[in-house]
Amino acid sequence: MGMYFYVVITIAVLFADGFYVRYYTASVFFLCAMVGVSIFRVIHFYAFDRFDRLSPKVNQGVFFVSVYATAFIWGAGFAYVLVQPGEEMTKMLMLTSTAGLNAGGVVSFIPARIVALFYNLLMLLPGIVMMGLLRINIVLIFLFILFAAYMTIIAFRGNREYWDALENEHQLRIKTEEIEKMSRIDSLTRLYNRNYFDEMFNIKYKTAARNSMYLTIIICDIDNFKPINDTYGHLAGDAYLEKIAGILSDVFKRDTDFLARYGGEEFVVLLLNQKADQATQLSEQVRTKVEKLIFPYSKYRIQTTMSFGIASCVPSLDQDHHHLLEKADKALYRAKNSGRNRVVL
Ligand code: GH3
Ligand code: MG
Ligand code: MG
Repeated sequence: MGMYFYVVITIAVLFADGFYVRYYTASVFFLCAMVGVSIFRVIHFYAFDRFDRLSPKVNQGVFFVSVYATAFIWGAGFAYVLVQPGEEMTKMLMLTSTAGLNAGGVVSFIPARIVALFYNLLMLLPGIVMMGLLRINIVLIFLFILFAAYMTIIAFRGNREYWDALENEHQLRIKTEEIEKMSRIDSLTRLYNRNYFDEMFNIKYKTAARNSMYLTIIICDIDNFKPINDTYGHLAGDAYLEKIAGILSDVFKRDTDFLARYGGEEFVVLLLNQKADQATQLSEQVRTKVEKLIFPYSKYRIQTTMSFGIASCVPSLDQDHHHLLEKADKALYRAKNSGRNRVVL
């Protein structure tokens, strides 16, 4: 957008007080250069993505050079007008336009402070140097040096704040993702927790219903876990829970398997697109592994078994997903009542 402003302002400055009549060649030269560089920048702006695919480095270089060219052409015009005798009106217009364009440009290039700095200097130095050489407008030289210094400070401070803000935003996003992840994980076993299970159960139930797939749920409960805690201590119980979580993760490792810690010593697995017999087979694998496990903890050897309740269906959307959980819970209850260490469908 800025590119159009340079052209419009150039025309306004040259025409407002008839400067172009008195300095015709210089005015045409200045206007053509400004129009030329602006057209180039507009074309480059619209073809930026295409050039970027070819060579991002060259593309960026072209952009910077065109910015510097804009600043320098303007700066040359500014210097030219300021050193002419009289022409108070055009000089006044040129001064205010230069200050305005310069401030706007520097602010828009804040993300790249070196570009902002060069843009600033290329635009202001020609005028300052020319007036200095001709020893005219000493106060104005001083004011423009101050202005250049001020804009440099703005560019550098703005640049630091800009990147700090980006960095903060980035850190905040990482932290938010971490917190979200943590809110789904059970801290002891590193499995998903019950909250996340409830969420996923609903989602997977609907997915299965829409695709007419089987959804199978397994509830696993460690047998006689309370005596383990009572005999060996709570920390031993915790370590044993971690071990069991590891065994479950080893068996239920497909992408479509969803394993979570449901409560104290209860775990739950959702199997999408797998029927009950596959779930039974996998549960048997876990059951055998747990049965065989003699878990060493300090001077103790901990051993127990595990019971499983399985329910499976092709869900329908007009039925709530809780009925499946209730069925699995009933199956688990029967496994417990019929002697534990077994898989009941
Ligand atoms: P059953 O065979 O009928 O399942 O008997 P159980 O003793 O396993 O069942 P019960 O539900 O009576 O006991 C579960 C125990 O699990 C009670 C509690 O002390 C223990 N527990 C629950 N959460 C944790 C935990 O995070 N760490 C430890 N160490 N123990 C836990
Ligand atoms: Mg138990
Ligand atoms: Mg229990």
